[in-house]
Amino acid sequence: MSRTNLIGALAAACIAAAGFTAATATATTTTTTTTATATIAIATTATATTATATTATASASAATNTATTANAAASPAQPATVRLDYIHSGNALNEQYAVDRVVIEPLPWPGDMRSTIDDTNRGNNLVEVVDAESGELLYSRGFSTVFAEWASTEEAAHTNRGFQESVRFPKPDKPVRVRILKRDERGAFSVVWTTRVDTDAMDVVRKQAAAPVKPIGIRVNGAPKDKVDLLILGDGYTAGEMKKFEATARKLADHLFSVSPFKERANDFNVWALALPTAESGVSRPSTGVHHASPLGTRYDIFGSERYVLTLDNRALRELAQNASYEFIEILVNNDTYGGGGIFGQFSTAAANNDWANYLFVHEFGHHFAGLADEYYTSPVAYATGGARREPWEPNATALRDPAKLKWKKFVKDGTPLPTSWPKEAYETASRAYQKERAALRAANRPESEMSALFHRDLEQSNALFSRDPHRHTVGAFEGANYEATGYFRPEMQCLMFDRSDKFCSVCADAVTTIIDLYSRPAIK
Ligand SMILES: [Zn+2]
Repeated sequence: MSRTNLIGALAAACIAAAGFTAATATATTTTTTTTATATIAIATTATATTATATTATASASAATNTATTANAAASPAQPATVRLDYIHSGNALNEQYAVDRVVIEPLPWPGDMRSTIDDTNRGNNLVEVVDAESGELLYSRGFSTVFAEWASTEEAAHTNRGFQESVRFPKPDKPVRVRILKRDERGAFSVVWTTRVDTDAMDVVRKQAAAPVKPIGIRVNGAPKDKVDLLILGDGYTAGEMKKFEATARKLADHLFSVSPFKERANDFNVWALALPTAESGVSRPSTGVHHASPLGTRYDIFGSERYVLTLDNRALRELAQNASYEFIEILVNNDTYGGGGIFGQFSTAAANNDWANYLFVHEFGHHFAGLADEYYTSPVAYATGGARREPWEPNATALRDPAKLKWKKFVKDGTPLPTSWPKEAYETASRAYQKERAALRAANRPESEMSALFHRDLEQSNALFSRDPHRHTVGAFEGANYEATGYFRPEMQCLMFDRSDKFCSVCADAVTTIIDLYSRPAIK
């Protein structure tokens, strides 16, 4: 799930209601967002302590790739990693930003200094770091937020809430302006917040407590700056379950790298694992009365959706994660119940002990890593048709305004009908029955094995249905995607962003490859 549940799990009627109340809230809300400028830095005492370069992780990792090692040796030391922690608050209509603090993380920048600018055009937001004097763009990265997801809930129509967020960037030599941009109705980015940051100022946090635990190298293929660094965090594992956590992290990483295109690019990744022990096994699942304290605060029932698993405690997440070289995070929760979540550029989660953990791990990582949209639409009641459908920025969903300009056109063979037919009605009939059974199992709190078996039957049924269709392997535009039965289209009939099948469609695979290229050094570029 990414934009989730709200749309996937709540009925279309709820969304309409939220829209209505949001409109009502207009009159009462007076706060406005946007380009407030804050300055957090006062003094500019130069500090050399921050760039204490080589880390255990970097030096331990160079072994397997001699070419990388040679390059690493010839390159200048990596800059330090700066993290700007801020508060993002508001409601469905307005949002504000405020600086919390600036931190120099314990480990050097994990990225390639030749790939500091993000040209992939993904995410609801974009962070830009520019030189305060010259305006030169030093760093940019697309991302999405938990806030944006929450802002589409019914609660956001009548309540203000605040969320901690962070952006990280390589330490600049001079003061910078950090700009947060947001997409407008047409999908173009515009600046919503700017703050000046002097990373050498007195109030920058430079020293932190020693790492409570050391990261475990699950797959180490080279220096972090040359590789995509994936950090697998555990939540809800007791001290006695640490071996189980490590074994599960290894198993799920092995699975990730059995799925294309991760499979072909496995050597471009490092994978680390890290977990702080908890007193009790498993994380909170409030809908069943289960409340556990866990270091990351990861839990089920986020925004009222029983299968939506996230942490809203960004500070705790970043403070643990900073002890490893990382660019991407997947949190394993030590639970059996099906669930997960993924936010582009933030983190993803998966229920590690569920029978479908392999699928959950990759699907949610698809959201987090590449900004892939959910291609499924589980609501049997069609959303109101004929209304405007905004073209999504996600690479694998389209409103198909102009088939001649389809964004994944390069994958479509000449003569392919757009939209492309598929057994939609038969699928939806089966889906309705399946959704009913699923809801009944949850409501009765039946054993997870029954749910897993239902998921198997559902997938087998879809496979059988699709296998008979002439467009089984066609790349085209199949109606039904992005939580909508109509008006949004997906690239192929099946994909692991659509159902619980085991492959990405061509378009999703390509979208993943683009991000691997951004974070690693491709063999040929
Ligand atoms: Zn796909």
